[in-house]
Amino acid sequence: MRSAVHLALFTALVTVFVSPAHSSEIAMQSSKVSAAPAAEVTPSWVKDSVAKMKRELLAKYGDSQSERVQRGLQQVAEFWRAEDGDAAAFEDFVRTNFAGDQATLDTMFNRLESLLEQLGGHMHKINREFRQQSDLDLGSVLPFDEIIAGYDPSAHVIDDFFQNKLAFVVLLNFPLTTLDQRLKDGPSWSRRQWAEARLAEGFSKRIPADVNLGIAQAGAQAEQYISEYNIWTYHLVDAQGQRVFPPKMRLLSHWNLRDEIKADYADSSNGLAKQRTIQQVMERIVTQTIPAVVVNNPAVDWNPFTNEVATAAAKDSDTASSAPAKPSNAREPDARYAMLQKTFFASKKADPYSPTAPTLIARRFDDDREIPEARVRAMLEQVLTSPLVPQVAKLIESRLKRPLEPFDVWYSGFRPGSQYTEAQLHEMVAKKYPTAQAYQKDIPNLLMKLGFSPERAQYVANNIVVDPARGSGHAMGAEMRDEKAHLRTRVEKGGMNYKGFNIAVHEMGHNVEQTFSLNDIDHTLLKGVPNTAFTEALAFVFQGHDLELLGLPAPDARSLAEKTLNDFWGTYEIAGVALVDMAVWHWMYEHPQATPKELNDATLQIAKDVWNNYYAPVFHKKDVVLLGVYSHMIDSFLYLPDYPIGHLIAFQIEEQIKKAGSIGPEFERMAKMGDVTPDLWMEHATGKPVGPEALLAATQAALNAVERR
Ligand SMILES: [Zn+2]
Repeated sequence: MRSAVHLALFTALVTVFVSPAHSSEIAMQSSKVSAAPAAEVTPSWVKDSVAKMKRELLAKYGDSQSERVQRGLQQVAEFWRAEDGDAAAFEDFVRTNFAGDQATLDTMFNRLESLLEQLGGHMHKINREFRQQSDLDLGSVLPFDEIIAGYDPSAHVIDDFFQNKLAFVVLLNFPLTTLDQRLKDGPSWSRRQWAEARLAEGFSKRIPADVNLGIAQAGAQAEQYISEYNIWTYHLVDAQGQRVFPPKMRLLSHWNLRDEIKADYADSSNGLAKQRTIQQVMERIVTQTIPAVVVNNPAVDWNPFTNEVATAAAKDSDTASSAPAKPSNAREPDARYAMLQKTFFASKKADPYSPTAPTLIARRFDDDREIPEARVRAMLEQVLTSPLVPQVAKLIESRLKRPLEPFDVWYSGFRPGSQYTEAQLHEMVAKKYPTAQAYQKDIPNLLMKLGFSPERAQYVANNIVVDPARGSGHAMGAEMRDEKAHLRTRVEKGGMNYKGFNIAVHEMGHNVEQTFSLNDIDHTLLKGVPNTAFTEALAFVFQGHDLELLGLPAPDARSLAEKTLNDFWGTYEIAGVALVDMAVWHWMYEHPQATPKELNDATLQIAKDVWNNYYAPVFHKKDVVLLGVYSHMIDSFLYLPDYPIGHLIAFQIEEQIKKAGSIGPEFERMAKMGDVTPDLWMEHATGKPVGPEALLAATQAALNAVERR
């Protein structure tokens, strides 16, 4: 949420928080990529004008304003270019706009805060409407819809504000801060100081609008590619040439494929064959040896082991099918990596305008997450190399009564809910929620089950609108208090299925956080949470209680130990995925001239290396590429590290909520802290900074508890 985001200027593109575990990641983080002052084009007279105005302002307002005068002049000078005006214009601007007394400064702050909320909120609303056709299940997406979805009405806002000098008003009067300062001094700042810091940060970069637009378009294109990447599993034949999946099953890569692997642990007859088949499909996607003709096509049968394709011998879909008489198994021509590269090329164009964070990698970690990359890597490695990993792996093997296979990174047997079959859960959910409206109507009830008072539940429910999603679901917050948060959920013809419900509960967690952290916070400049890991963590809290929301029993102590082990194993899995994402972005920066095929090869090598380092020792198999299957890698601009951090944070928060005894009020207290640094937020919420220790300690305890039985 760094830079312009808390200003709400660009938020239209940043508020689509999506289920880490489940849903299509549509966070168009592109807008967070901002540009920076072009010091090299600072006019030569600026230095003299700064000295002159310093004398003049100090004479007028006195020495008490010395620090502000000095800082403000320096900040304006850094961004001023010849086209902004000559020395006289500069001096006149400073003379007119320096708020030299507290009352004027207060007025300026209050009005800016309110107006920027309005601006961001309306921009966001336009964006939401323009993305409607591509985001919602409303029939076919025509080419022009994609153009509209890729349009960012706020792309020129920063330019406009530099042009009309509103940006300079802010820079003249409010402090720019570095991450170091925020980490070091932030804990002793007042809320107003924090709000002022976020206000100024919105103008800490001066990026050309066409660069922002290019990033948004590359993101929208990649996202469209991902959102239609379905595999019709009835048309998969296993290693023995048998159909192992039921008709009409259409699985979106990678979310539904992975979740099917998880669900198949409950299928004692065919589960293993299904899992091995899906693993094979995933590897074909990652390596791009998948036949192009089988993507989103129920008209072709495919054996992913031999890679043979044939015209479908059985029909299970009314979808207009276009199968050639003799379909070719010609591979998808690196489209996956070409898409990823487009997001890289677009992001890279912002680099020259961002000298303090001159790569997308730096902008992600320093600006957005506000946790340095080295610290994130260290936390992930702490989990990956934990001595608990082989212990938990051994436990899984003993339960499966077989050696681990690579797809067991998605082992779901620790889930407390696995006493119910997917079919049982599906039946319950479909009956309860035949339509998106039925879910909407039930939100107050669901929130009361989570410990919110009837009044708070109704209040929050009134701020959430449920829409039918085209993809697997996402949440889109409001950006001004007159607007509502949107919950996008996928409801199939026969009603919502359990996966859809699980996602909807997660997205509802986002919506609740979004509502409190906007509508109930002291400063709208501090709306939101420190970074996406926090909103994910808070959503996990909801998601973790989905069975109770179905009226099924709350997990007992034994189930809770299982849940902890599940969290640990999930964190172990996604930590590796995140390291792959990070390494791939580093590789792209080191090889800007690479072809998509070269990027393909490099990604495979990176995925294998991470696997060989952290997974092969317990899986006893080398060179597996599964860690590269996540769709986020393609369309989400280095978003994946947020997920493992999210798990760590979720664990800290969940522990805190357990201590508090009820989700509702504690969730609300935390969500109202707003957009400060991650460690400061976590200190306020739980008394400790962000870290993996809580998860590791609890995992050890859970392991002991399980092994004692
Ligand atoms: Zn999410």
